[in-house]
Amino acid sequence: MESNRLRELIREMTLEEKASLCSGLDFWNTQPIPRLGIPSIMMTDGPHGLRKQEGDADHLGLNLSIPATCFPSAVGQASSWDSELVNKVGKAIGREAQAQNISIVLGPGVNIKRSPLCGRNFEYYSEDPYLSSQLSTSFIKGVQSQGVGTSLKHFAVNNQEYKRMSIDAVVDEQALREIYLASFEEVVKEAKPWTIMAAYNKVNGDFCSENKRLLTDILREEWGYEGLVVSDWGAVNERDRGISAGLDLEMPSSNGLGNQKIVDAIRTGVLTEEELDQTVENVLTLVFKAMESKKKNATYDKEEHHLLAREAARESMILLKNEDQILPINNADSISVIGALAINPRYQGGGSSHINPTQLDDILAEIKKITADETKVVYSEGYSLEGDQIYESMVYDATEAAKQSDLAIIFAGLPDRYESEGFDRRHLQLPANQIRLIEAVAEVQKNVVVVLSNGAPIEMPWLQNVKAVLEGYLGGQALGGAIADLLFGLANPSGKLAETFPKKLAHNPSYTNYPGDGETVEYREGVFVGYRHYDTKDVEPLFPFGFGLSYTTFEYSDITVDKTNITDEEAVKVSVKVKNTGSLPGKEIVQLYVKDVESTVSRPEKELKRFEKISLQPNEEQVVTFELDKRVFSYYNVKLSDWHVESGDFEILVGKSSREIVLRETVHVESTVPIKNKLTRYSTLNELLEHPVGLEVIKEMGLDQIDEESGLGSSTQDLILGMTIHSLSVLSNGSLNEEMVQNILLTVNGADK
Ligand code: BGC
Repeated sequence: MESNRLRELIREMTLEEKASLCSGLDFWNTQPIPRLGIPSIMMTDGPHGLRKQEGDADHLGLNLSIPATCFPSAVGQASSWDSELVNKVGKAIGREAQAQNISIVLGPGVNIKRSPLCGRNFEYYSEDPYLSSQLSTSFIKGVQSQGVGTSLKHFAVNNQEYKRMSIDAVVDEQALREIYLASFEEVVKEAKPWTIMAAYNKVNGDFCSENKRLLTDILREEWGYEGLVVSDWGAVNERDRGISAGLDLEMPSSNGLGNQKIVDAIRTGVLTEEELDQTVENVLTLVFKAMESKKKNATYDKEEHHLLAREAARESMILLKNEDQILPINNADSISVIGALAINPRYQGGGSSHINPTQLDDILAEIKKITADETKVVYSEGYSLEGDQIYESMVYDATEAAKQSDLAIIFAGLPDRYESEGFDRRHLQLPANQIRLIEAVAEVQKNVVVVLSNGAPIEMPWLQNVKAVLEGYLGGQALGGAIADLLFGLANPSGKLAETFPKKLAHNPSYTNYPGDGETVEYREGVFVGYRHYDTKDVEPLFPFGFGLSYTTFEYSDITVDKTNITDEEAVKVSVKVKNTGSLPGKEIVQLYVKDVESTVSRPEKELKRFEKISLQPNEEQVVTFELDKRVFSYYNVKLSDWHVESGDFEILVGKSSREIVLRETVHVESTVPIKNKLTRYSTLNELLEHPVGLEVIKEMGLDQIDEESGLGSSTQDLILGMTIHSLSVLSNGSLNEEMVQNILLTVNGADK
């Protein structure tokens, strides 16, 4: 609907009607005004499927929802590093939403995985903002191409579940921009999500739902966002302040309370009617856009979507270890399948994203389907999912089964009670009964394959005792078929980690500042999140960011850059050749990182800037080309309040993971906005000498004695060079008097000293 018509509609409304539009009708629907022909639209959770509730409503996944395809959770989708695939999943969810008369899917979640303990990490993509923003952009474009909106969440800095509704995340500006907001920024600009969900927590002192800096200054004014901002469910505190800050819609219904606060605030002059009208216009724009985008009689093909879920699961799973090329399994006469998770799979996480799947693969049946009658497959439970207690009789049965087979596949992972929205984990271990099982089976059987179901990293003290590990993450409803395809070589593993697996929790950079003191959590590690920490501080991870094995091999060669000297207004093209040197078709995720060779600001060792997943037949090769622009070389300069490139050399690093860089090139980038560092009386003599005009000034004043020929020992020389202009003056016995100091500063800084 045109904005003129919308404004006319708003003019026809009473104050109470306007206020009523600012919060929901109920749990999932917006408020209609029938007398003015304003309809209601419905939103539901996701985002790895739809959670449309028809009966009792809640926002924590407690009550059942109508069946929908359950795709792999975001952690899995991210491990595919496959933008096209994620886009296809988005389209499928959009089709299902149309068929269910849903206008907005509440996702995706792009919060950064600061700590592996966060109970909701499975709903988020990565520890890296570039990967996260690229994939969520593809997802949103997919959903929205179907005429269904999304809700990019949780804006912002919502990185833990402990005290998630009140914790104050205290984060420095550089980390905020380069890590936490960067995961949203590109998505907002590129994918234009219909809505953005303001998080529960505070950021640097202000609740997100009342945070003008986040919701207006950055989101709308800097990034140009034109959609609607909705609160997380129940995240509103001061409704009137929220309106001024830029929060449009309160969800769910405030039962009249929030609306009354708005009316009162207008009447008492705390809020202006113009501010309210803008909010109402944002709500109406969304509602009418959704109505105009509805497709009549929309349907979807359940079987087709199940197959897509299987494809997505295959692409998401990661082969972490494969000793003696034990996988793919091709000549086992007998296999023992061990572990309760093989029968009761964990295929999605708990909480508001919990979906009621249209069907669920039976892992054992899928394995049997592939092995047909040629292989004897026996199952043993091994442990209970109900608690951590070790039942030796179960362990005994499992080892007996393992002894009598050529190979044992153990299904292990985190039970629902370990990992969910609403709480964080306390450690990274598997339940004790599973660890005991893996160790016992590995003692009697040398061919052990572990298949994992978990939403975030675990420690693996048993890793040396098993031959293979397939990280299945939370694979969605078709995980069984996908696991069978990968184990038996019907598909070649091609996922790579979108997060670091530390050797132990204590190695994680947030370890000493997580989850805070109950009121505040300080992000003291700054920009050193995930591999930015492990690589910079050289902490050996269990599995690095970007890591994943394949049944084939790839060789990288011929890195070329089209220019070696550019300004920050130019782009540079980097090409590499990748060849499949093995005997099976496979997919490789080519990763490009950039390292600022020398920097005056604290920057990570390297940062992911581009990636591409390619598919190659044996012996086939392909040239992959990336274009690198200013943002790739920039850091966020807090003084400038802008992205800035520091002139100098940058290494372009191409690799198979953040720890396996195979090719490198160097590019010199010259800044077009050099920062003039003003000198003050507290600048050192060294800084003065390095200043282009400074040296001249010093010479003119005859103060240039402290150089190589001065005869002073180098330590004395360094000592003097480290003194401030001020203290030199104080100690100079009048030879550097105040007038001279003023003159120096005036000359080097120009008129505006
Ligand atoms: C969650 C959101 C979710 C909303 C509605 C909240 O508790 O944080 O992610 O979309 O509930 O269920």
